[in-house]
Amino acid sequence: MKSAYIYKSIGFEKIYIDKNASEDAKNDVSKSAENKKQETSYEHHKSTTSELLRQLKAFYETCKDCKKCKLSEQRTQVVFGDGNPDSKVLFVGEAPGADEDIEGKPFVGKAGKLLTFELESVGLLRERDYYITNVVKCRPPGNRTPEEQEMMSCSYILKQEIKLINPQLIVALGKTAAVGLSGNKQISPTKLRGDFIVTNFKSPVLEPGKKIFITYHPSYLLRNPSEIKNFREDIAKIKQLIKSL
Ligand code: SF4
Repeated sequence: MKSAYIYKSIGFEKIYIDKNASEDAKNDVSKSAENKKQETSYEHHKSTTSELLRQLKAFYETCKDCKKCKLSEQRTQVVFGDGNPDSKVLFVGEAPGADEDIEGKPFVGKAGKLLTFELESVGLLRERDYYITNVVKCRPPGNRTPEEQEMMSCSYILKQEIKLINPQLIVALGKTAAVGLSGNKQISPTKLRGDFIVTNFKSPVLEPGKKIFITYHPSYLLRNPSEIKNFREDIAKIKQLIKSL
């Protein structure tokens, strides 16, 4: 079973399978009438998507040798966003880890696999339904939390990604993402998860008053698997929010 394989491959002894979610996924990913309608609409947006990809690629090309902060010293490469830039939802995490630093793509390590699996379980596919990136684009040594100055230095990239993608829903994965997006250092994801935070005038990437949905970073779930149930509630809310956009 795919879900069992995913959970074992990322180090869980217990397998967290929600049968309802699996059924939802089957229904969502299968060739339902709704999906066919979506496919037609995606066809419609193909040219927009390629133009956005072209613009993002051109922008990333200008940043790939960035040395604006000290994270440039030990990185293998700058890790930019990935997914469908013409989607309504943008997920923002903290920073690339070791696997991402090597592969050059965000959320491909254990935490990324967990997130991808959980999103696929509700029918959300990276290549089709969302774009995903990080607050900082270079791996902090030892996977430490990025410093405020590093987040500020790197904000020009996230700002431009948000400008080009123009998402209708932004999801902050964990505290660093929530702080980097909102400019509010006092945020506590454990208290605020499943709800919105609002950007203030200190946000380096968004206008004040923008709403951001906040949930756990998947690496937190690797350390605290009992929170997966709560995370799934958030993902279900995100799915509903996307439907209403
Ligand atoms: S983290 Fe961002 S600002 Fe720092 S070197 Fe990398 S790309 Fe540049």
